[in-house]
Amino acid sequence: MIICKSADEIKQMGKAAEIVVEVLLKIESLLKPGIATEYLDTVAEGIIYKRNAVPAFKGYKGRISKNPFPSSICVSVNQEVVHGIPSKKKLKDGDLVSVDVGVQLNGFFGDAARSFLIGEVSEDVYRLWAATKEALDISITRCGIGKRLSDISNSIQKRAKKDGFEVVRDFVGHGIGKNMHEDPQILNYGPPGRGPVLKKGMVLAIEPMLNMGKSAVKVLEDGWTVVTRDQEVSCHFEDMVAITDQGPLVLTRQ
Ligand code: MG
Repeated sequence: MIICKSADEIKQMGKAAEIVVEVLLKIESLLKPGIATEYLDTVAEGIIYKRNAVPAFKGYKGRISKNPFPSSICVSVNQEVVHGIPSKKKLKDGDLVSVDVGVQLNGFFGDAARSFLIGEVSEDVYRLWAATKEALDISITRCGIGKRLSDISNSIQKRAKKDGFEVVRDFVGHGIGKNMHEDPQILNYGPPGRGPVLKKGMVLAIEPMLNMGKSAVKVLEDGWTVVTRDQEVSCHFEDMVAITDQGPLVLTRQ
């Protein structure tokens, strides 16, 4: 069941989203070759607690893992798609790093991800990054009252294909509100014109994941880190979008 939110609830979610944005901007300012991804996690956690919020991913038990997620943010580098665990591993020139941040504030969740380029990247990596970012931008324009859910999905796949990239099929976007993951699931592929009709008050976390190579992914032995099977680079962006009378309202861009 898709839960539609009141204007006041969307405002509350905007406050959670504001903290997510603050964390992402801070992390962006720290990124450089040589920085350990666990340092980013420490900084992120500090900001989240300072804002009286709770890191939503820490201790989270997903459907795929028996052990709870150990960190406050997900940091996924190169062939890692999503759910990478921050570690002592250092970023290096040419890396593509996806940072996913989730917080809970006053009972509502905020969730967004950005991919960043470290130093000089190859032309192919840049193209993948730009295509993923644009896929999200395009999909947001599909978030109008009366459109269908799969119009979002289709627009993402279409943009990926334009550059010869594949989308990840095993992980999807989601509704968000008083739960981090609510209905509907938002696929990054499929024909348009299907699924639920978009209604005022729906809040969607849309998260395109584009792969340089094939779409197949697997989960590593840590129970969390999702990587491409062919070890090719993957890119991920995520924004929270509220469906309103005035059109799509992106809560995680302030
Ligand atoms: Mg999400």
